[in-house]
Amino acid sequence: MSNKPLLLILSAPSGTGKTTLARRLVTANPGAIFSVSYTTRAPRGAEREGFDYHFVSGEKFEQMIAAGDFVEWAHVHGHHYGTPKQVIEEAAARGALALFDIDVQGGETIKKQHPEAVRALVLPPSLAELERRLRARSTDDDATVRRRLHAARIEIRLARSAGYEYWVVNDDLDRAYGDLEAIVRAEGCRAGRRPLAADLGAP
Ligand code: ADP
Ligand code: 5GP
Repeated sequence: MSNKPLLLILSAPSGTGKTTLARRLVTANPGAIFSVSYTTRAPRGAEREGFDYHFVSGEKFEQMIAAGDFVEWAHVHGHHYGTPKQVIEEAAARGALALFDIDVQGGETIKKQHPEAVRALVLPPSLAELERRLRARSTDDDATVRRRLHAARIEIRLARSAGYEYWVVNDDLDRAYGDLEAIVRAEGCRAGRRPLAADLGAP
């Protein structure tokens, strides 16, 4: 018998640092899976096909919805984003840690289907700091930054009312990463997560 998979959903307003944190966690945990979403938006900056996202046309995305290829999909900032079902299947088969870098509505949908999934909200230290980071990233124009800040307020409110299990404030990257590692470690010790020796009794 293998471990039960850990489905860890990371949500955050865009620019908060969740991709940086999620990538680091996947790199540090051999066997972990980073869920690469499908999106109809164009690549930004140095983003790579199949690594950051699978970039597809609206038509292809519709075909995938019809084929039932997504565990959830949503319309965010005028584009479609979807999480492939295959990631959950692979995590279940291997008892692996799977990381989902998705928005709050996506997190809620996965949580409804997989109540054992764990959701963490990554927060900026303040909205002013989030604005500074978005401008420093300099991949978005002024109107986009404003739109993302407005969306950030809504996203934080939504996550709080959706009852995300953990909050990680990304003030200092190393400290926030330590918090995330602590969550993974604690969740790994959750009763029933690991198989016990036969002579310790059934779980
Ligand atoms: P998201 O995936 O939430 O949109 P990113 O991981 O792309 O965010 O990070 C947005 C920007 O903020 C990047 O330039 C990243 O290097 C920077 N960043 C992330 N965490 C911190 C931090 N704790 N302090 C300062 N800058 C950070
Ligand atoms: P960005 O365009 O900045 O990469 O992402 C915009 C938002 O879409 C972010 O909040 C990101 O977490 C979310 N997102 C990315 N992939 C998915 C997905 O597969 N499903 C959902 N619901 N949201 C996603």
